[in-house]
Amino acid sequence: MTVFVIDVAGLTGRTAAAAEVIAERAGAESPEAIVIPHTIEGRELAGRLAARLGSPVLADAIALSLDGGEVVAEHSVFGGAFTTTASAIAPGVPVIVTVRESALETASLPGGTLIPAAELASSASGAADVEVVSTQGVVSDSGRPDLKSATVVVSGGKGVGSREDFAIVERLADALGAAVGASRVAVDSGYAPQSAQVGQTGVAVSPDLYIALGISGAIQHRAGMQTAKTIVAINTDPDAPIFEIADFGVVGDLFEVVPQLIEALQGQR
Ligand code: FAD
Repeated sequence: MTVFVIDVAGLTGRTAAAAEVIAERAGAESPEAIVIPHTIEGRELAGRLAARLGSPVLADAIALSLDGGEVVAEHSVFGGAFTTTASAIAPGVPVIVTVRESALETASLPGGTLIPAAELASSASGAADVEVVSTQGVVSDSGRPDLKSATVVVSGGKGVGSREDFAIVERLADALGAAVGASRVAVDSGYAPQSAQVGQTGVAVSPDLYIALGISGAIQHRAGMQTAKTIVAINTDPDAPIFEIADFGVVGDLFEVVPQLIEALQGQR
């Protein structure tokens, strides 16, 4: 089986040219699947490729597998309440799959050939380059890992109580080399920037470890984090819904538990 795995980093404004290069290569090598990260550039590229190749698209997969040569994608739907599978049969053309960035590693298929963005950008004719004149993206200068692709995420919720006290979330994140996330209420209360919001209307993450501090675990928050491999929750309310999906739970005050955790982590170094 031949699978193209596309790296889209830095392809902003170059997706038309990149689609041209990939389509040409697909014509020559006939891959059965083209796997693309589910980022803004990735989604744009997937649409362009689908139109060029006449391919079906399986969008926003969280896992991939093969069933008798057929590509099967797993999706987290209805705010994360259900996991569904979908497959596409497309004789003679590759199936295009966009995969959540943080699930890309686990979603690899046998026979994958990585096509680096640099190769696409340099070999593209550039006939249809788009000039980006403004971007609303916020560049983080925190030095922390990017939230979407981080392997460890520490998130704070309303239970943290204030912008000043949100520093405890950042301190734990820094002790673990993690990205910082937040619930919508924490964002709406001004504890953390909008770019940190995890959930249905925020960023979807699938890290190896997700630590939820003072977050109740509303369905809209879970939609963005419940595919994390290990979930740890610290909450004063033993009935908080976050404990239903947590692998490890601490019923307690985060201001008592987290400093001990940070101390223990620092003691390990
Ligand atoms: P709360 O629900 O108020 O929970 C705070 C928790 O902190 C409680 O469980 C409490 O027991 C605990 N706590 C309090 N003090 C402490 C302490 N000292 N130590 C430990 N624990 C403590 N939400 C999102 O997060 N992301 C989204 O993308 C999102 N999208 C939405 C979209 C729509 C259309 C709607 C309607 C809602 C959306 N929401 C989203 C909001 C969501 O429904 C919840 O309101 C929100 O997630 C709750 O945030 P929270 O858990 O921080 O606050």
